[in-house]
Amino acid sequence: MNRIHQILDRWQGEHGSAAAIITHDGRTISYAELADAVDQATSVLRDHGVQGGDRIMILAENSLSTIAFFHAASSLDAWAIPANARMTLPEIQRVLDHARPRAVVCTTDVSEQAVKTAKELGAKTIQAAFGEVAVAAPYESAPEPVDPTAEQVAVLMYTTGTTGAPKGVMMSHANVLFTSKVSSHTRGIGPADTVYLALPMSHVFGLVSTMCATLFAGGTLKLECKFSAEALYQALDMGVTVLPAVPQMHAHLMKYARDRGVTRIEGSKLRYVSSGAAPLDPTWKREAEAFFGLPLQNGYGMTETTAGICMTRSDIGDPDVSVGVPFPGVEVHLANSENTDGVGEILVRGGNVMKGYYKLPDLTNAAFNDEGWFHTGDLGRFDDAGRLHIAGRSKEMIIRSGFNIFPIEVEAALNDHPDVVQSAVVGRKVEGANEEVLAFVQVVKGAKVTPDDLKAHAASVLTAYKRPSIIILTETLPAAATGKILKHKLIETFHKELA
Ligand code: ATP
Ligand code: MG
Repeated sequence: MNRIHQILDRWQGEHGSAAAIITHDGRTISYAELADAVDQATSVLRDHGVQGGDRIMILAENSLSTIAFFHAASSLDAWAIPANARMTLPEIQRVLDHARPRAVVCTTDVSEQAVKTAKELGAKTIQAAFGEVAVAAPYESAPEPVDPTAEQVAVLMYTTGTTGAPKGVMMSHANVLFTSKVSSHTRGIGPADTVYLALPMSHVFGLVSTMCATLFAGGTLKLECKFSAEALYQALDMGVTVLPAVPQMHAHLMKYARDRGVTRIEGSKLRYVSSGAAPLDPTWKREAEAFFGLPLQNGYGMTETTAGICMTRSDIGDPDVSVGVPFPGVEVHLANSENTDGVGEILVRGGNVMKGYYKLPDLTNAAFNDEGWFHTGDLGRFDDAGRLHIAGRSKEMIIRSGFNIFPIEVEAALNDHPDVVQSAVVGRKVEGANEEVLAFVQVVKGAKVTPDDLKAHAASVLTAYKRPSIIILTETLPAAATGKILKHKLIETFHKELA
């Protein structure tokens, strides 16, 4: 197998009538019907002149058409650019200018925002069995070379943009097939599983570790266009067996249940629950484990590594909040960890590592060392059981009076306060190389807690140099589609409060 769409070929014939997808409005789509939808989507793209090496933007919320066009792109050797339909027009325009796609597909049947964008782009509506979409063809074909091997680029995915402008990551078919396989094996996914997918397919966690991995294993995807704690809570009663989510989704679910006086779910078929894509707060982990009655597995990955790098495992256990051990076939090494209490930069090598950043050769070169290790920019340490613990991003490490401070530790201390929903800690230069610690704290609606209360709370758990000098309280924090906090936007967003 050297193309992503061939995943579906494995499940035709006898398995063809099995459910591949349950849509957000409750329709069941079999594997045979999904293969038909892919054929139709392929024809639509062909009619728009798409050829191998062209880029196709799929401006989507999770739907059957999103999955159909993703596989259709693979069958034409075109690059799929899965993007979130809720991006603003200027954000979309930046990607268009950079990637110059031959076609833009908007999932207008499930997304109001996609309808608006489709209008702006002058897209034409198409009704098909896979649902309604609108397709625009903004650029002439300017194909990149096509490689008949699995090294052909399959996906151009933009990073979240937590630390700056999103970068376009080129993933090969081999990368996606690799992660599909290890993710489904590690989670033990098979035809009997129903996997909940509310994670946006514009992110690797939703697209590869969840969508591709489930179809790779012949399981059923329960699709949700938008995350809602209420919909998830109800789905837990409806046969979902595997629940992958980002920490914020778990937190919303816990709050929803708590508000209804439920502290533990009864009678669900859930057997595997995981968190990934962002730091998992220890308080959230404890609460979720009590609620599900299952360990909350924590996965560490990034766009550049086609998601999966490390994952916790029940047979090894995870008393704290580690990210477990590397996936099979993935090597992890720490650079310069000898002199810094075992903390070093996390380097990765394996079948999951990207081909490079699109149109950014210098950045690509800088990201790999001579031995082919990819520099993640994250810092971590291994414990005695071989589990990796993430200390934070090297870019985000705060240096105050010569001491290193990892925001994750300060955030965990703040989040531990009962009136705190979540927090984000960043450094700000004061003089020379010295930085001060700023904390932006989302508090529970209606809570009376003050910045001084939180300072006192921080002082009770953190050494003096780690304590925030400024604490800003807020009801919302700038976040990406996955719920990840966009840290580089904090100082700009709260410039008035900081003045
Ligand atoms: P950008 O690269 O544009 O700044 P980003 O790094 O947030 O954005 P992603 O590729 O979505 O974009 O995220 C990967 C990063 O998320 C990792 O490098 C790591 O810092 C963080 N991360 C992922 N999973 C975990 C986890 N389980 N625990 C802690 N951090 C995590
Ligand atoms: Mg990154």
